[in-house]
Formats: sequence, C-alpha cells, structure tokens
Amino acid sequence: MMLRASINKVVRSGASIKSLTFKPQSCVSTEISLRSYSVESTADAKQGGLGISFELTQDQLNFQESARRFCREEIMPVAAELDRTGEYPTEIVKKAWELGFVNLDIPEEYGGLGLGALEASVIGEELAYGCTGISTAILANDLGEAPVIFAGNHEQKKKYLGRMVEEPLSCAYCVTEPGCGSDVASIKTLALKKGNEYVINGQKMWITNAGVANWFFVLARTQSDPKVPASKSLTGFIVDADTPGIVLGKKELNMGQRCSDTRGVTFEDVVVPAENVLGGEGFGFRIAMGAFDKTRPAVGVGAIGLAQRALDEATKYSLERKTMGVPIVQHQAVLFMLAEMAMNIEIGRLAVLRAAWTIDNGQKNTYYASISKAFCADIGNKCATDAVQIFGGNGYNSEYPVEKLMRDAKIYQIYEGTAQIQRLIIGREHVKKYL
Ligand SMILES: Cc1cc2nc3c(=O)[nH]c(=O)nc-3n(C[C@H](O)[C@H](O)[C@H](O)COP(=O)(O)OP(=O)(O)OC[C@H]3O[C@@H](n4cnc5c(N)ncnc54)[C@H](O)[C@@H]3O)c2cc1C
Repeated sequence: MMLRASINKVVRSGASIKSLTFKPQSCVSTEISLRSYSVESTADAKQGGLGISFELTQDQLNFQESARRFCREEIMPVAAELDRTGEYPTEIVKKAWELGFVNLDIPEEYGGLGLGALEASVIGEELAYGCTGISTAILANDLGEAPVIFAGNHEQKKKYLGRMVEEPLSCAYCVTEPGCGSDVASIKTLALKKGNEYVINGQKMWITNAGVANWFFVLARTQSDPKVPASKSLTGFIVDADTPGIVLGKKELNMGQRCSDTRGVTFEDVVVPAENVLGGEGFGFRIAMGAFDKTRPAVGVGAIGLAQRALDEATKYSLERKTMGVPIVQHQAVLFMLAEMAMNIEIGRLAVLRAAWTIDNGQKNTYYASISKAFCADIGNKCATDAVQIFGGNGYNSEYPVEKLMRDAKIYQIYEGTAQIQRLIIGREHVKKYL
C-alpha cells in the first residue's frame, strides 16, 4: 500500500449513507492531497458493493471534498481573467499536480494513484464546476496517457508514465488532422519504417496540451496502400516532444475553454525508435479508439460540472431578481427551466457513473461511454443556454458568469467524438444486440 503524505490511514465509510449530490458546500479547513490516499482502499468502489449502490466511499468523499476545495480556492478566483487573456494556467496545473489531481489514472506500479474512472469522475466534476478551461488543462494528460496505459509494454509505461509522476509534465493525444477529425480512418500522417526507426511526416490539428507537452501519442499510417483497412494500417507511437522536426503551431483562440492550450503540430521527418510503437504495427486504430472508452465518461462529467454551475448561478439569480413584484423564480416558466436543468443533471451524472463503473469493473463500456458523453454534452449546452436566459440581458454580458459557461459548453459536443459520432456509436452498439 502506497501512502504519499501526512494522512496515513484512510477510514472507509462502510455502511454510512452518503448521497451523490454535488451541491456546493463550504470548504474543509485542512488541505488534503489526493496523494494521501491509498489505491487499495478504492477497490470497494470498483467492485461496486453488493448490487446497486448510490453511496460514495469515504475515500471518494474525501477526493470530492479535496477537489471542491481546490476549485473554490484556486480555480474560481482566476477563471474569468484567464478566460479573458487566454493564458495557460501553468501555476494552477503545477499545484494540481502537487495535490495529485493530474494523472489520476496512472497505475500504482508506475508511481501513480491508479484511481478508477469512478474516482476520476467525482474529481472531474468538482474541478469543472470552477472552469472547464482550467479543468481541461489539469485533466488532459489522462487522454494522452490512456493509449499508453491501454497498450504500452512495461518499459514504455515505466519510461513515459513514470516521468509524469516525478515532475509536473504534460502530454497530448495527437490524432485529429486538418482534413479529418471524425473520420479517423482517413488520417494522412505517414510513418515509414527505416531499419529500426520510423520517420513521421504529417500534420495534426486541434491538439490539447500541444504547447506544453513533454511527449505525444501520435496516430500515423504505416501502410500507404489505401486498400488496407484502418484496423491494420494505422499505428500508435509515443513521440518525445523535443524530437527534431516537430513544429508547434500558435495557440488557437477558441470560443470557449480559452486558457486550455490547443494547437496544430507538424511532423517533418521526425525520427522515432521502433521501441516507441504501442502494441505493434497496425494496432493504432484500436488503441486510439479504445482510449475513449476510458476518457469519454470523464469528458461527460466535465459537462455535468459546468451544468451544475449553470444551475447554481441561475437559481441564485432567480431568487434575487424581481419582476412584476416577485422574484422571477416565482414565475412558473422560470421555475420549470430550473427543474429541467436539475432533472437533466441528475440523469447525466448517473449516466457518467454507470459508464465509469462499467469500465472499472472490467466490462466493455463503449455504449455507456458514448451515452454519457453525448447526453452530458447536450445537457451542458442546454443548461448553460437556459442559465443565460434566466439572467436575461445580464446573462449576455461578460460581467456575469453564465455567458462564459455557454461558450465553454459548446466544445463538449465536438471534441472526443462529436454529438453525431456518439449517436453513430450508440446506434451501432444498440443494433448489435438484435443481430
Ligand atoms: C478545442 C479542441 C480541442 C481538441 N483536442 C483534441 C486533442 O487533444 N486531440 C485530438 O486528436 N483532437 C482534438 N480535437 C479535435 C476534435 O476531436 C475534432 O474536432 C472532432 O473529432 C471533429 O472533427 P472535425 O473537426 O474534423 O469535424 P468533421 O469530422 O469534419 O465534422 C464536421 C461535422 O460533420 C459531422 N459528421 C462528420 N462525420 C459524420 C458522420 N459520419 N455522420 C454524421 N455526422 C458526421 C460532425 O458531427 C460535425 O458536425 C480538439 C478539437 C477542439 C476544437
């Protein structure tokens, strides 16, 4: 059992009943690092107990409280300013790393906390509540690392995951290209084998963390024959970011999540040793898509954190703002908007927890991962839009918090598979059951 800091013993909740609601609470008085907790003690949650349980374990409650406090103290005070400037939150990410919020899924064997998707969801919602631009910067490593955790050999994991827990480094997932995002099978980046090395040429686009990454997961074509299917022609590589020939684009100015670092990356005769191939030649497509089963619930829960913030802000405002002599919450049309938001948030959160629980229990969760991602992305957008509506003219102005939520929400329907692609996956998985 690995213990990392001052708290040496974690008391498990056992039979204590705790709800899964995430409404804001005052912060605990003592700073608690995730690094204080053991991995073994989260095993109860992964096993799911006997039958259905809506309880969080004491460990999970502690993670939640710790993330909530970090959000209130470190993220919320600077969120509006970083949204305005677009500056990457270097110091916050560093502090988050010190407290254990970065690299949640690195296995204990490689120095990480080895948390499950369920714990990552609980933490992710709390961080997203404060600012999804900052939470994306904190959590994007999980996407870059997922292919390595999924398909890396011991040496690759030791080298590339090990360094992430030794110092606050970032990594990135390089799949999308200027010409194709949804159609991953059509990527053009080429990796040609020369002796015991590969030479990569091509262009990637919209890569989160690219400007701060220490290494990249890169998906490239190793078979130039177009007749070879994606399931055999694409290969995943780990590429050190300081390899000669890697050229970073400018930090993109996006609609929302503006402090998160998104760029194009060009590969010009980038030489990568064959030992950096993940899972063997031709396995890349499976690896790149398999990673999403783990990361999509985490994306969904980001949208839930944002939606919960929208609901909280809109509710507070509706209790204060008066029209026709009464607080607007007393107008049924407004109250019903709040009720819709609350309903959707509760359902979305359960969808995330289901998807997370499924993968933590070693079951294939493609169907649930896409349901949680698609549903939460949509309701994140709906809740943010309705919050702006409840704020009226004030909602449209950057002096109030909800217009940022509306801009930040949109990306959830685009990255890690668009709203339409999720429906394709859900539809296919659904129909499979009838064949
Ligand atoms: C801020 C940001 C961060 C990102 N981070 C990363 C990252 O870290 N790594 C990475 O690899 N990528 C990243 N992406 C890329 C992202 O995953 C893609 O933008 C996304 O997958 C969509 O691809 P596209 O932009 O090429 O749109 P397209 O694939 O061209 O799609 C355009 C439209 O057509 C629809 N469409 C496409 N195909 C179909 C179909 N078969 N059926 C129905 N509708 C369809 C889409 O849903 C969409 O509405 C990021 C993007 C952004 C904006």
